[in-house]
Amino acid sequence: MSANQFSVSPIGHIKTPFKQKFAIPRQPNLAKAKGTIYLREDLNDPDMFKGLEGFTHLWLLFVFHQTKDKGWKPAVKAPRLGGNQTMGVFASRSTHRPNAIGMSVVKNLSWQQDDSGLLLNVEGVDLLDDTPIVDIKPYVPYADRVADAEDNLASYGAIPQREVLLESHVKELLNIARKKHPDIKQLLIDVLAQDPRPAYRHKHENDDKTYRVALYDYDIGFKVENGSIKVMDFGPDKRSSV
Ligand code: SAH
Repeated sequence: MSANQFSVSPIGHIKTPFKQKFAIPRQPNLAKAKGTIYLREDLNDPDMFKGLEGFTHLWLLFVFHQTKDKGWKPAVKAPRLGGNQTMGVFASRSTHRPNAIGMSVVKNLSWQQDDSGLLLNVEGVDLLDDTPIVDIKPYVPYADRVADAEDNLASYGAIPQREVLLESHVKELLNIARKKHPDIKQLLIDVLAQDPRPAYRHKHENDDKTYRVALYDYDIGFKVENGSIKVMDFGPDKRSSV
């Protein structure tokens, strides 16, 4: 291998509630989605996590495995600009990049060692289930927190915050689902409030199309009515083997 060629192997994989790309928040910490990183079997030395509890947040570096073979373009459509205007790939957090590497700051919850090896629980993930993780680093506020940082797009494309309406039959089903996934109701509300529809649909305050979201092993349908997200149905995801 030449000096300009690198090979990176995942140190593990993360399990998250997001079974498909649709409706995953655009960045970490926009929803309190929990994730568990399972380190590779041969990386089973707890010394690797020594002192980790001293950091409230961690950087995750990962591979956009589901889109990595789809290529990239120098300019990409920016969802925050309504999806029509473009930005340079390096001026964007697009998944389609020359190297399909992603990074997210997440909350550090806890780590443990069990029969399957070492695992690390985090919160605030924007990652697809089974995403390969290539590194974990502590978030160090003294250097990583930039007080005067600006993002001039922020005023254009604020993340929508829509009201989420749950039909009474959906509420009942959510209460049952909560026994298995205690955070399911809040997660669903967080994810839907951001209006997961493609950016060009955001201006439509009434949208009769039923959009489908997969969270954990559930399949959820919603429509948009008078500017509110209305959850129409909630049931087991037939594609899920869980
Ligand atoms: N915080 C990261 C990711 C931003 S893009 C970064 O800035 O690098 C976030 C989007 O990545 C999500 O909305 C989801 O659609 C997509 N995504 C998450 N995990 C992925 C994966 N493993 N493969 C492809 N796309 C993924």
